[in-house]
Amino acid sequence: MGFLAILDAFKIAPGAKPVKTLVKTVVSVGLFIALAVAAAPQQAGVSHFDGNSWWSHVKYLADDSLEGRDTGSEGLRKAQAYAVEQFKKAGLEPAGSNGFYQPVSFTQYELDEAKSSLALVSNGETKPLSFADDAFFSARATHESVQVTAPLVFAGYGLKIPEKNLDELAGLDLKGKIVVYLAGSPSDIPTALASHYQTTGERWKSLKAAGAIGVVAVMNPASMDIPWSRISLNRNHPAMDLAGAEFNETPGQQLGVVFNPAAAESLFAGSGHTFAEIAALGKDRGPLPHFALAASLKAEATVITRKVKSANVVGKLRGSMPGLQGEYVVLSAHIDHMGIGAAINGDKIYNGAMDDGSGSAAVMDIAASLKAHPETLQRSVIFLLVTAEEKGLLGSKYFAEHPTVPVQTIVADINMDMFLPIVPLKILRIQGIQESDLGSSAAKIAESMGIKPVADPEPLRNAFIRSDQYSFIKKGIPAVKADVGFELGTPEQKIFKEWLTNRYHAPSDDADQPVDLQAAATYEEFTRRLLIATANGPQPYWKADSFFRRYVPGKELRLIKSDAH
Ligand SMILES: [Zn+2]
Repeated sequence: MGFLAILDAFKIAPGAKPVKTLVKTVVSVGLFIALAVAAAPQQAGVSHFDGNSWWSHVKYLADDSLEGRDTGSEGLRKAQAYAVEQFKKAGLEPAGSNGFYQPVSFTQYELDEAKSSLALVSNGETKPLSFADDAFFSARATHESVQVTAPLVFAGYGLKIPEKNLDELAGLDLKGKIVVYLAGSPSDIPTALASHYQTTGERWKSLKAAGAIGVVAVMNPASMDIPWSRISLNRNHPAMDLAGAEFNETPGQQLGVVFNPAAAESLFAGSGHTFAEIAALGKDRGPLPHFALAASLKAEATVITRKVKSANVVGKLRGSMPGLQGEYVVLSAHIDHMGIGAAINGDKIYNGAMDDGSGSAAVMDIAASLKAHPETLQRSVIFLLVTAEEKGLLGSKYFAEHPTVPVQTIVADINMDMFLPIVPLKILRIQGIQESDLGSSAAKIAESMGIKPVADPEPLRNAFIRSDQYSFIKKGIPAVKADVGFELGTPEQKIFKEWLTNRYHAPSDDADQPVDLQAAATYEEFTRRLLIATANGPQPYWKADSFFRRYVPGKELRLIKSDAH
């Protein structure tokens, strides 16, 4: 699941425990699985999965020898070779541009911290900031070396959302200035809309139009998945973007800085406001004030760039219905992870077992199940394992820009990313549930299996735009991503919160963690059923009131079809 790419998506669970306490809380894997299987609810219908083949794929992908599958690394190439082997065994046809592979080129950006600095300047006094404790450059938002001192302006959430008449930039002089904002959005903005406008590119569009030259994102203490200490630890991990100016979503942005909320009072000193006041309002997604800050930011960044090559892996199962076999349902997951990073508890390999070894394994497993237990598929299915998700959904973005089948023939994307089978699957959280027929279909299938489908109960986490389905959504293609869910205020919620705090994007997201194989198997069965239903059912469309309908190309035609549908 994406994290580094989207400044706005930096999260931490409230009351998060420090990393050091995590190891002791790990339950014996075997015991946990045994208990979970015994406690699993009866699922309607036969399942094609038992969790074991899924787990063996996860273990392969998360092995230390694959070194965390960083984009461009030997470890990722090994993982992809394994996936190609599994695709061949499952009888898939190659559907990349080079066999099963679709090569993708990247530019890597790495900050040379020894030759960089940040400081706040006010009343002629310069106060240096510590990269480790106060604030650091986002290499993803700082593409070139830069030396600049510019005034800071606080713009609330930094959002302009015309649909809701929200313009937090109105009345502010932002010309040549650096905009400080609190990650998040006001509560009266619907989740999908808020998510869309919080993407790096969309937010920058309005900031650039207002004349801003850079941003400082203050993380919202109420919505951080990962504690600052852990985020800061990996701040110098290189960032990437797709090679080619056409992929630059932040033209004119000179710098991006991520600020520790625990150190943010220094930004507000002398402004007549405190960060405590802002954070209290932001906690409940309340409206925020907008004002000029007393300090300027003095920034000096030295950025080293390098070319990197990687690839998506694409396989195809041909549909049988003349007239429909030229249409495609995409089943996707990301096979990359974060590679090797700063050591935590002596471990520096970020194995990415759940993120997203779990989804990649499910793609392979579901392909295999369709060979072992064939089903009539009228439409064709694309099995897609993308690269560089952790760099900002880049592999899927490239695929959506340059699909290996005509883009208008892709009818849906079912994405799997870190679906977290760590408790029995009784509740399925479906991102996009209310947006399209695909969401409705997913809900219906879950219900038929005795599973309760729910919308995202934690909209602040911004999950709808944080994985690869968003690349398809932006091309007008209906998409869903489902995850094992929980009721708010239950012990399960605590298990998820602790998982995010301790294991998400940490070396302990490895094969030595408790997982519920029965939950994984049931999740795979749900996904298989949704895939088959989508391949054989009417073409899914966006709901009439869905925000994302705007991305449909040749809108008029699709809308007429949709309304008639
Ligand atoms: Zn991730």
